[in-house]
Amino acid sequence: MPDLAPILPPATLGVLGGGQLGRMFAIEARRCGYRVAIYTDEPKGSPAGQVADLEFNGAYDNEALLHAFLDEVSVVTVEFENIPENCLRIAEARRPLRPGLRAIHTTQHRQREKEFLRANGIECAPFCIVSDELGLRQAVAELGLPCVVKTAAFGYDGKGQSKVEQGSDLGQVWSGFEGRSAVVEQWVPFVCEISVVGARAVDGSLAVHGVIENQHLHHILDLSLVPARVGAEVAQQALALWRAVAEALDYVGTLAVEMFVTAGGRVLVNEVAPRPHNSGHFSIDACLASQFGLQLRAICGLALADASPHSASVMINLLGDVWPDGNEPDWAAVLNQPWARLHLYGKAHPRARRKMGHITVLGEDLPQALERAQAIKRSLGMP
Ligand code: AMP
Repeated sequence: MPDLAPILPPATLGVLGGGQLGRMFAIEARRCGYRVAIYTDEPKGSPAGQVADLEFNGAYDNEALLHAFLDEVSVVTVEFENIPENCLRIAEARRPLRPGLRAIHTTQHRQREKEFLRANGIECAPFCIVSDELGLRQAVAELGLPCVVKTAAFGYDGKGQSKVEQGSDLGQVWSGFEGRSAVVEQWVPFVCEISVVGARAVDGSLAVHGVIENQHLHHILDLSLVPARVGAEVAQQALALWRAVAEALDYVGTLAVEMFVTAGGRVLVNEVAPRPHNSGHFSIDACLASQFGLQLRAICGLALADASPHSASVMINLLGDVWPDGNEPDWAAVLNQPWARLHLYGKAHPRARRKMGHITVLGEDLPQALERAQAIKRSLGMP
């Protein structure tokens, strides 16, 4: 029987994970008068820990520390999905875990996620699960080329992926996956990538930020454009897919679903994230309630807020590459613009490809926001 009493300030909210998503959640929660406790396997001073009331630093299998964290909190959520199952079990046995174990367990593993989508009739690219080179050969014969091989577990931002094309050496491709299982997916010749981010409340009500158009560079999100430049039919399919995922997972919290749009206007689910998402960051500055505001309301058992956009916007991801030779970029170029909002995540070391922050650029319409975003990118020396 779920605990339906709303959790109100100054209760302490627990977050598993110490990255930027936990940081932005903690800022939102503290603004409303909640306390926040972070549990992370990073050292003290994690991006989320810097702005939290309490930071517990230890391995996810440190049960004594985990219980000390659970002693402090009224509810537990996650800011990344790769949390060991046993840790989630311990948390769920003692406190409401939102989203719940089943939703996180399903979506933290690509094979389980794909099988869940298939079992629920939710459209995604055709796929096979393989565990050896022979299996890969059979999958390629069945799915055709090109296709993509992805590790079943713990892959993100294109890590642990390999594209197989006509003439690829399958033995060599498989050597990168040896000893693990993998998902082989048919290549989707998409015309654009989109996502839907929103939340489902304890009572099953829903709120979404609309459809987001995503552009990637080197497999990492570069820009998110809102509103997405898709027709009403595509938008409707995308929102219906998001809803189908949320309901089939009996989800509580903020949920992100990434999708492909084909030339024929079909929408296929690519990935599900059981948490706020990089492509939803625009919502902090461009929506009535943000993805973190929705997460807060959902996990506390409260009614959701209107999450629709009030402005067109473009979110620019800031990777470590933007720091020239490790030096701080010229933030005045951003902060002097009335229509730009800078978010930095408090990470000390700007390594290449590391997500260090983002900028939301607002506009009266998308062309204006896009033009402003391109100007900001140029001023920061971005490609
Ligand atoms: P993922 O880590 O699965 O989100 O994949 C990272 C990126 O690789 C996606 O955003 C796509 O640009 C590309 N990609 C992944 N799977 C496919 C596919 N089946 N067909 C075409 N492109 C893909």
